Amino acid sequence: MSTDVIHLDDVSRVFPTEPPVYALREIHLRVGRGDYVAIVGPSGSGKSTLLNTLGLLDRPTSGSYILNGVETTTLRDGARTRLRGREIGFVYQSFHLLPHRSVAENVMLAEVYGGHPRGGRRRRALDALERVGMGHRVEFVPGRLSGGERQRVAIARALMGSPALLLCDEPTGNLDSGNTEAVLDLFDDLRDQGLTLVVITHEDTVSARADRRVRIHDGVLTEE
Ligand code: ADP
Ligand code: MG
Repeated sequence: MSTDVIHLDDVSRVFPTEPPVYALREIHLRVGRGDYVAIVGPSGSGKSTLLNTLGLLDRPTSGSYILNGVETTTLRDGARTRLRGREIGFVYQSFHLLPHRSVAENVMLAEVYGGHPRGGRRRRALDALERVGMGHRVEFVPGRLSGGERQRVAIARALMGSPALLLCDEPTGNLDSGNTEAVLDLFDDLRDQGLTLVVITHEDTVSARADRRVRIHDGVLTEE
């Protein structure tokens, strides 16, 4: 069996509009455990569609997507949702933190859906915050943090449940260069700990830090 975390074979996604939009065209992609891959491409090229597909938020129109050994395209909704909760963490450009909750509470909220045991939730949140270097800010509200610190909290939230795969859509899009560096240093640490990272970005400074770059254009993926 394949040991890849991601194995896309001939994946297409067609939006059935008039005329139809071919957002992903016969994509092949393999990402191994501990790989760190950047996806680059212009606006409208299919990046978000690809990330949503990888994140089990959207289904391919055709083709096969095996996530950690599980063929996902034939799973029912409930099984897909459980698999997503177990294997995948999401990081977005805007941090989506609740302003009136503490850092620790924001991270604990990752477990509200998903049937995790309630006991130990705070302990797991504090561990995740230690992992991203935010263990000293657990009682702060997000408004008192810098942008880079907020994104680290959002990454801690994504790490709850110990996912195999972190999917990031423009994770440094709202950050200045100093905070971008701090988040990229954290990605290096997480990769070194065995996490698999897929990062969508427009910025060369961000894609240059990944181990692999793939380019998407009009739904066609090419490895650089
Ligand atoms: P990117 O993230 O690279 O900007 P997207 O993946 O969002 O690109 O979009 C790829 C193409 O698919 C675009 O032409 C976009 O207009 C189209 N598209 C995205 N979502 C839908 C949808 N729900 N229905 C129809 N077309 C869509
Ligand atoms: Mg997009």
